[in-house]
Amino acid sequence: MKLARTLILILLLTPLLSEAISEAAFTAAREKMIKEQILERGITDPRLLNALLKVKRHLFVGPAFQADAYGDFPLPIEEGQTISQPYIVAIMTTVIAPDYKKKVLEIGTGSGYQAAVLAELAREVYTIEINPKLARKSKELLKSLGYRNIRCRTGDGYLGWPEAAPFDGIIVTCAPDHIPPPLIEQLAVGGRMVIPISYSTTVQDLLLVEKLANGKLKKTNLIPVLFVPLIRGGDAR
Ligand code: SAH
Repeated sequence: MKLARTLILILLLTPLLSEAISEAAFTAAREKMIKEQILERGITDPRLLNALLKVKRHLFVGPAFQADAYGDFPLPIEEGQTISQPYIVAIMTTVIAPDYKKKVLEIGTGSGYQAAVLAELAREVYTIEINPKLARKSKELLKSLGYRNIRCRTGDGYLGWPEAAPFDGIIVTCAPDHIPPPLIEQLAVGGRMVIPISYSTTVQDLLLVEKLANGKLKKTNLIPVLFVPLIRGGDAR
């Protein structure tokens, strides 16, 4: 009788235990990712490293990709889209330098991972996704994770979010072939935008666009990248 009770107890506890173990494995993988892919490549801002440690990237990919969530590469999410490689997320975040006073805009919510990282650092995050299915899913996930400083919208991010402008930082995570004029308009003076620009289907550059005090733009090419294209149309909210 006693043995049976012990066995039942073990059976009941096993799933809890294995969940705790896999959670520990994910944490270890996250720490390794930060050390090898971010820190050792020269990104040392402790606030950003902390944010990357806090956001559980494996929750933003499907079950089939969770084991690879902390790998040094982009991963597929639904609808033929991708979640960027952790290093690219880190670079783009560093470049716009979000802090607790800043309001930032992201174009291409996708899984919601980049938005979550930004939300750990900035005062407010506005994020726009054109694909309604992805938009719904990421909005629910970000809400379930308790983020109260993220506003999600379904629509064409080319147009930005005029009612909430100006933004101190703008991150575009899909590639247009030119800088959308509405985004330039909505960037605050002194603000920074990071955006991949595609010159052909295989050639893209990550660009830093700064709006200087005199209102002029300063553009700097950062690194070659490969993002999914920015598509146009769709204005559902
Ligand atoms: N930042 C995301 C990855 C984005 S992948 C993450 O952290 O997971 C690029 C996303 O941009 C895709 O989800 C795609 O649907 C979206 N997208 C493409 N064109 C868009 C547009 N015009 N406006 C808003 N989102 C767009």
